[in-house]
Amino acid sequence: MEEGTRRPRVLVVEDDRDIASLVGTYLERDGAEVEIAGSAEAALESLSCAEPDLVLLDLGLPGADGLEFLRSFRSRSRAPVIIVSARESDEDKIAGLGLGADDFVSKPFSPRVLAARAQAQLRRATWPRGAEPIGAPGSVTGPGPAQVRAGGAGGAAVRLAFGPYVLDLDGRLLERSGERVSLSRREFELLSYLALNAGRSFSPSELYQAVWGLAHGDLSTVAVHVQRIRRKIEAEPSHPRWLVTIPGQGYRFLRGLP
Ligand code: CA
Repeated sequence: MEEGTRRPRVLVVEDDRDIASLVGTYLERDGAEVEIAGSAEAALESLSCAEPDLVLLDLGLPGADGLEFLRSFRSRSRAPVIIVSARESDEDKIAGLGLGADDFVSKPFSPRVLAARAQAQLRRATWPRGAEPIGAPGSVTGPGPAQVRAGGAGGAAVRLAFGPYVLDLDGRLLERSGERVSLSRREFELLSYLALNAGRSFSPSELYQAVWGLAHGDLSTVAVHVQRIRRKIEAEPSHPRWLVTIPGQGYRFLRGLP
């Protein structure tokens, strides 16, 4: 299964060294090869050496700003770009999205949230079209649920299938045998995070940081949401098939079987 896979290349364009190295650490932990550029000019220069699979782009840079880089980058690559910026204005978001950015993460950000969003973009970019076998090459974090790209060219929806369920990440909905299952926003985000990282265990604290975006809080919230999700997706919530408890570790989404 490892054959034919290569580490995804991520270009981090960020002039704050601390932020760049924090982001780099998380991405490398998730298996990416990371290159850091401290300016738009340095980032453009690095493109002549290797094409990235994903770009994380700060907007406020010395010299040319992030939007200028994005304009140049889009003229040569369709690789996904996540803008990571303290600039909160709608104009910047609209300008970034208009120039072809794929996602926008505001600073200060949770590194886990950013890592999850980066993985989601890499999966969209690297998984081939059509139904995928479990754990196919191209998976960033190893075996995951069957993933299906729907629709035509560009902006295709990403769906994760498990059993009779389909989790539509772009439409933000869960269907069981074609019928919509009602999930709250947090339930959807928690289930999506676990399903995107199927096979990995997360402690309640890690999940709280990733999904709620907070370093501290009432961790029992996580357990409550897990119970609610189980009541919606498990035939026997007390004996879960998909969203299981790993004693001493936390929660894990089990990969689907055909
Ligand atoms: Ca900056």
